[in-house]
Amino acid sequence: MDPVQGDLTSADAGAPAVGGGAPAVDAGMPAVSVATGEYAAVRVWAGGSRFETHHVPLPVPGDGEILVRVRLATVCASDAHTATGRRPGPCPSVLGHEGVGQVVAVGGGGRAGGRPPPRPPAPVVWNMVVGCGRCDRCAAGRTAGCRAAAKIGHVAFDPAGPLALFGTFGTHVHLPRTAHVTRVPDDLPDEVAAPAACATATAAAALAAAVRASGRPLAGARVLVSGAGMLGLTAVAMAADAGAAEVVAVDVDRSRLRLATAFGASRTIVADGPTEAPGAGAHAADTHGANGDGVGGHGAAGHGAGGHGPDGPVPGRAGPVDVALDFSGAATAVAAALAALDGYGTLVLVGSVMPSPAVALDPERVVRGRLTITGVHNYEPADLDTAVAFLVRTHRAGLPWASLVARPIPLTGLAALLTGHSTGQPPRLAVRP
Ligand SMILES: [Zn+2]
Ligand SMILES: [Zn+2]
Repeated sequence: MDPVQGDLTSADAGAPAVGGGAPAVDAGMPAVSVATGEYAAVRVWAGGSRFETHHVPLPVPGDGEILVRVRLATVCASDAHTATGRRPGPCPSVLGHEGVGQVVAVGGGGRAGGRPPPRPPAPVVWNMVVGCGRCDRCAAGRTAGCRAAAKIGHVAFDPAGPLALFGTFGTHVHLPRTAHVTRVPDDLPDEVAAPAACATATAAAALAAAVRASGRPLAGARVLVSGAGMLGLTAVAMAADAGAAEVVAVDVDRSRLRLATAFGASRTIVADGPTEAPGAGAHAADTHGANGDGVGGHGAAGHGAGGHGPDGPVPGRAGPVDVALDFSGAATAVAAALAALDGYGTLVLVGSVMPSPAVALDPERVVRGRLTITGVHNYEPADLDTAVAFLVRTHRAGLPWASLVARPIPLTGLAALLTGHSTGQPPRLAVRP
């Protein structure tokens, strides 16, 4: 097999030289030794807008572990929410949970579940939630809710601990034996692959949840997507690809709605709500005027306001729909999505990952409408596999995924990226460690 080439360079000035890597091995062979004196550089969030570069000796992967050289990391809105104090997170820590990298070394002994390990220098993405593999939920295949999960980009930084390299805002990520890793085709651009580990896989999980809960395929369904950030845009593309009869996208940001149209929305609604959205999509889909008579084909999810043109967002009703997916996390958008459901409709909540005002629920309407409300947080390994396959197929078919990712900057510019995200920028900013 191919030896690992000397691509372990550090982007940070002053970092110790990181040299040639190590030869690859298969499962069952002895662990690859990473020569002493080689370091990874990580950008550690030290609170507020303070970031510091730390150098960590490259670990020798233990049994089933994988050492990955990060090629591109994208910035999820939740990274910015952590850095700006809107979302609690351990500090200091290495943030970042979306990225694509190249396998540098694999430990011996085989991986959890008996999966064959990717061989260096394979490009890979990895599940941001690493289940313990021992608890009742892991045993039931619900690793997203593992009782002892380690989440990449969400652990306290301990340079001497086993999770010292556990965020994508660094040159390397050190993956435990139970981490799920998905191979990426060699020719898939990094900008297309990097968002898979959060945005694409979570959107895949949301659509899968909609299908499970509703008991019907998305083909022919009327689908509402509120919040047209990276997750919402991906869900729009997936719903359209699945043959939805209608895909309605709602957001406060007209530029995002134009993107939604490009990615398959059949109709867009510009919401005249507050632009501050606490959720994963960072764009509120605040459709005012929701009322409770949406069951039975009389749904009204409020009226979008604002400008419209022949090819721009138009005001209109968002319902009735069979499936509503909220990625905004805005309470008003959640209420509007609920109100938009037709009978037997399913609401999937994804963006509500921080405290928000309660949303009124009319239980009679849920009963008479046979409505289903479900939540998706994180995702399962199969969703990441689905996400990569979807990105590969639709990229080859011409969907401009790479256009959603800004030109990457070095790790040293991370603070500005995390504290300065605003409208008008691509949904994903990026760093190349
Ligand atoms: Zn994320
Ligand atoms: Zn577990």
